[in-house]
Amino acid sequence: MHTPKAPEPDVFLDAIQNLDHAFKFANIHSEAIERLKYPKMMIHVSIPIRMDDGSMRVFEGYRVRHDDTRGPSKGGIRYHPDVNLSEVKALAFWMTCKTAVVNIPFGGAKGGVIVNPKELSPMELERLSRGFIQRIADFIGPETDVPAPDVYTNPMIMGWMMDEFSKIRRHHIPAVITGKPIPLGGSQGRLDATGRGAYFCVKEHEKQRGWKPENVTVAVQGFGNAGQSIARLLHADGYRVVAVSDSQGGIYREEGFHVPSLIQAKQSTHRLHPVYCTDSLCELIDTSRISNEELLELDVDILVPAALECVITSENASRIKARTILEVANGPVESAADPVLREHGVFVIPDILANAGGVTVSYFEWVQNKAGYYWTEEEVHAKLHLIMTREYRAVSELAEIHDVDMRTAAYIHALTRIGEAITAHGTKEYFRNNK
Ligand code: GLU
Repeated sequence: MHTPKAPEPDVFLDAIQNLDHAFKFANIHSEAIERLKYPKMMIHVSIPIRMDDGSMRVFEGYRVRHDDTRGPSKGGIRYHPDVNLSEVKALAFWMTCKTAVVNIPFGGAKGGVIVNPKELSPMELERLSRGFIQRIADFIGPETDVPAPDVYTNPMIMGWMMDEFSKIRRHHIPAVITGKPIPLGGSQGRLDATGRGAYFCVKEHEKQRGWKPENVTVAVQGFGNAGQSIARLLHADGYRVVAVSDSQGGIYREEGFHVPSLIQAKQSTHRLHPVYCTDSLCELIDTSRISNEELLELDVDILVPAALECVITSENASRIKARTILEVANGPVESAADPVLREHGVFVIPDILANAGGVTVSYFEWVQNKAGYYWTEEEVHAKLHLIMTREYRAVSELAEIHDVDMRTAAYIHALTRIGEAITAHGTKEYFRNNK
């Protein structure tokens, strides 16, 4: 007998719960909240691709522009077999909030293609990436909507997409997309910007906690671009990275890992190996294998979910032993898990702040493309540091003033900025009183 599958949780509906919660504290008009519950526009496309064996396959994709009141909508494109419209809407909504938290002149958007990119050849992947841009070309542009990388997309894919868009418009338009390879107009410092922004948050949090890095243990769930960068930066600073995982599972070592070795092995073999490397020679070291679920429940100081959304749920929240959760992924904590974590005294540095370094340096890339004038890596790092530190402190202060957690404070911070922009066009009171 066919057992019907449980309905997928609606990530978007879950995500916008934060709006009503933060609204209680933020001094903004209810009309602004109402607006943000609906994405501005969405496009659903099909992309027929000629596969290497001559057959044709049709892929489906989405682009959602959630809001563009504060500037062109901005957000990445994800390639993943589980992509669905609700998820893309949630991710676009988080981008609207994130760009407001760091006060960059963008709104929020997101795109996704339902595909497992690991099953495609490089040429199939290029055809798919160009095909997606052909479909959404009328929907994006440097002044309307600016894509970027996300889960399983990378600088090379951004380069193909920029090239395809420029061909369609028949002139060179680097500012249509960010996260490009540096020779194609990418910015210095973009590749590790998400991890670096999160690292700057940890440095502020470290002061609040009075931490000494060598005594602080870290577990990282997800070892893609952002997970690798945050692990590398924390390790270089003396933090003890004791556990790391990827989609295949994780490794644990009480003494901590030599993170550059793990990255070297992962990049050359595409797998996570417990190794210590000197130059190109890597030796296997003694470790325990753990599952992703076990990693999340480890007794560590900092837990870094750096993969997909909804990994900490009402089901496992009470078993989380970490003192701090640094949300490098988007939406890793389901809204029902938040009160449980709060009750257990877990301090959450929320995604719309913790991972905003990526889009911040994307903004720098867009500015550099438009100006045709490029900055050094030191300049990028210094400007990112300034923004992340300033906004982390602002969010902390709001958390104190309203006696709320950091997530609520980050939403209050974002909603105040978005709300001011929306209400600058007038509210019910303005129109009623000026008839
Ligand atoms: N995909 C990244 C994010 O979720 C970066 C978006 C961007 O740079 O526009 O923040």
